Amino acid sequence: MSDSKKGLNTICTHTGEVQDEQFKGAISPLYMSTSYAFENVDVKRYPRYFNTPNQEALCKKVAALEHTEAGLIFGSGMAAVSTTLLAFLRAGDHIVLQNALYGGTFNLVNEEFDKYGIEYSFTDGLNPEDFKAKIKSNTKVIYIETPSNPLLKITDLAAVASIAKQHNLVSMIDNTFASPVNQNPADFGIDIIIHSATKYMGGHSDICAGAVASTEENIERIFHLAKNLGGSLSDQTVWLLERSMKTMGIRVRAQNENAQKMAEYLHNHDDITAVYYPGLLSHPDHELAKSQMNGFGGMLSFELNEAFDASIFQKSLELIKASMSLAGVESTMLSPSQTSHFLMGPEERERQGIKDGLIRFSVGIEESEDLIADIEQAIQKVKSQTIVEAN
Ligand SMILES: *Cc1c(COP(=O)(O)O)cnc(C)c1O
Repeated sequence: MSDSKKGLNTICTHTGEVQDEQFKGAISPLYMSTSYAFENVDVKRYPRYFNTPNQEALCKKVAALEHTEAGLIFGSGMAAVSTTLLAFLRAGDHIVLQNALYGGTFNLVNEEFDKYGIEYSFTDGLNPEDFKAKIKSNTKVIYIETPSNPLLKITDLAAVASIAKQHNLVSMIDNTFASPVNQNPADFGIDIIIHSATKYMGGHSDICAGAVASTEENIERIFHLAKNLGGSLSDQTVWLLERSMKTMGIRVRAQNENAQKMAEYLHNHDDITAVYYPGLLSHPDHELAKSQMNGFGGMLSFELNEAFDASIFQKSLELIKASMSLAGVESTMLSPSQTSHFLMGPEERERQGIKDGLIRFSVGIEESEDLIADIEQAIQKVKSQTIVEAN
């Protein structure tokens, strides 16, 4: 059976194992060598050539999970993003990017692209027309991220892929928030799929890594730049990432289930004024999400009643941690206006609909009753303090 025909958890558990020919151990042996005897002049194994035994094996797992021919593993999500973008853009080219983007990607484009003479435009919205409107004669790449951070907006994968094909552009997606468990953009015609493996692929908040999945031809092109830029991942971490990905399917599905419960609980709560989660019927893009996602993911955000101080709410949480990172097995919350989107400034936040009371919730695998109890006691605490102050 070819790997792409196997089910998710079978791929997670088995695809891309390094066979232990010597001792027949159950798991992949770890090859830390930076030096390998020449087999022939073409195959020089070296960590920065992205071709050690553990790297090659893990690339196969990534490709199988994303239904693509090939994959590549990087030292961070941003190494994957930057290398992939620069592999397809040169001076004089133009790229269209969706307006709601991961901060690091936004900074890369905003702070670095002028230097390389690469032109860029951000869309005004996420509708197909918004992308079409920004395409110019020198546009080469269209770049999306769905669901978006932190408002979980959905971009239409098939529509963007078809716009890209019509205009002969390469379509790229940052698929980190969905993970390969919940969304496989290649099935909708998106050319290149990028992940921060620091998030759901790693899943335990102890790995920084990135991944790219695409055709052999595209991966070859990305590899040619990657070996020059040098953003490879240490084999020790490659090995740990493979171990982590064995449980990605069951972790993420548990997170989907918990997130749905949290979204419904918050949606029905009198002190919560808005909940953003594609799994809710009230989400404006619920039907679109349903048509292109296998699950609605473990990320959501919500707005506390404006009278409440969001930072008191967060400080009152006992089980859920206040943390910048996301997608670990442990639940975390943060206030985008005070952390991830602080540097954006109040006007731009306002324009993007990111209110001061907005809380981003990365739902873990804890028991849902315990998570709800923690949120409830924190709401009660902030509520009692608000009343005291009002008096
Ligand atoms: C974290 C993240 C990245 C960057 O990944 P690093 O591993 O931190 O370099 C890119 N895109 C999204 C959506 C992310 O959440």
